[in-house]
Amino acid sequence: MACYEAVIGLEVHARLLTRTKAFCSCSSNFGDAPNTNTCPVCLALPGALPVLNKKALELALRASLAIHCQIQPLSRFARKNYFYPDLPKGYQISMYELPLAAGGWLEIEAEGTGKRIGITRLHMEDDAGKSLHEGFPDSDRWSYIDFNRCGAPLIEIVSEPDLRTPAEAYAYLTTLKQILEYTEVSDCNMEEGSLRCDANVSVRLRGAPKFGTKAEVKNLNSFRYLAHALEHEIERQIGVIEAGGSVAQETRLWNVAAGRTEVMRSKEFAHDYRYFPDPDLLPVSLSAARVEEVRRSMPELPGDKAARFLRDYRITPYDAGVLTSTRALAGYFEAAVQAAAPAKAAANWIITELLGRLNDAEKEIADSPLSPAALAGLLGKIERGEITAASGKKVFARMFETGKSAEEIAAAEGFTSIKDAGAIEKIAREVVAKSPENAAKYRAGNEGVFKFFIGQVMRETRGQADPQAVQEILKRVLGES
Ligand code: ADP
Ligand code: ZN
Ligand code: MG
Repeated sequence: MACYEAVIGLEVHARLLTRTKAFCSCSSNFGDAPNTNTCPVCLALPGALPVLNKKALELALRASLAIHCQIQPLSRFARKNYFYPDLPKGYQISMYELPLAAGGWLEIEAEGTGKRIGITRLHMEDDAGKSLHEGFPDSDRWSYIDFNRCGAPLIEIVSEPDLRTPAEAYAYLTTLKQILEYTEVSDCNMEEGSLRCDANVSVRLRGAPKFGTKAEVKNLNSFRYLAHALEHEIERQIGVIEAGGSVAQETRLWNVAAGRTEVMRSKEFAHDYRYFPDPDLLPVSLSAARVEEVRRSMPELPGDKAARFLRDYRITPYDAGVLTSTRALAGYFEAAVQAAAPAKAAANWIITELLGRLNDAEKEIADSPLSPAALAGLLGKIERGEITAASGKKVFARMFETGKSAEEIAAAEGFTSIKDAGAIEKIAREVVAKSPENAAKYRAGNEGVFKFFIGQVMRETRGQADPQAVQEILKRVLGES
């Protein structure tokens, strides 16, 4: 079979984290009782006029800067006309020929290599309501509509056709999600529909000068679906071409149950929507000063944070990557360091102990039973040699279970480090006396058996002897006679 390559471009919608809707003061809270958050504006009653939500604009600007887009000095809302029962206005407010921002990029890492993905544009729009086709006693005859989501503020981010594999598409969406969460532009909750993704896919012979005809796949509302749907769609298109056919330009739907994409409708074109500037809304005019203001108020982005962690805390790039994967986790780490935890130890313990246990307990870092200060308390005790690292793990486990401090647990459960030189020396002498052959080997220059003696002393003390003290004392005892 000839060698094909896929070409993928993603269109991502994110719901903005505002209190109210895009053009009216209704709450845009998710999950309220149906049709409780509505007003003449979002229900499109005659004569009602929309007013742009300032916070929504600010969040859209923040997102634009975070993905390196140029903010346009003038952008304009347009009406995208179509009919659907959950769209009372008969049009969606979107931006068409003058988007808010354009020409950005995102750095992704897939299959071990970095790659820059171009971003065509970012524009603002409003959401439609929700049709409820299931869940009512008469759902076989009726569909219901919830208008709460009508007019909720969205941004749409359109990528260039720069992605080549499902893994790259996955990485792109992961990176974009992380940035939108970090900047608090969106909560990106995919189950609640706060982050939605459509994929445009085509295939071509590797090295071909032109792109093939694309199909658009909708309904990719989880990362798993995105990867699966792309794999299937790429295979399907290759099959069509190999069979001598040609790919149709159409909109397809990912059918989760059947595990394949299916035709939804033939491709719609921009002219089908009769776009025209929305006469009810002023153009959005943005001065350089306003853009600067947004830039200054930007929170630190994940990449910058990781670089700073490397510099300031001298942890490994891997650790810095894990610790900055979410803003909450990065905050936890920095709070522990601020509470005087040694940075490297804090990184280690958070990544190996804390994340593991949180994962097992299906908890988020925000719900950690161990506060950053409590972790710092434990690491301080270990650093000062008051308990050994081995006991530390047990104390950690108890802290995680009980939410108590290291101090309380160590005292109550007898986890105290044996630093008493006399006590350690007594045990060291017993251990050496029990293994005269090994002691002789050591004295004859076999350094390797030293580890054996350390192990024996640690065993006798149930891991509670201070390792530093054990080393020194054993050396002295073995060196005698
Ligand atoms: P349309 O006019 O169908 O909306 P656009 O040119 O606006 O198409 O592109 C929509 C999305 O499709 C973008 O994310 C773009 O990167 C992607 N895209 C464009 N052409 C192709 C292609 N041949 N194969 C895959 N994706 C493509
Ligand atoms: Zn309203
Ligand atoms: Mg388009």
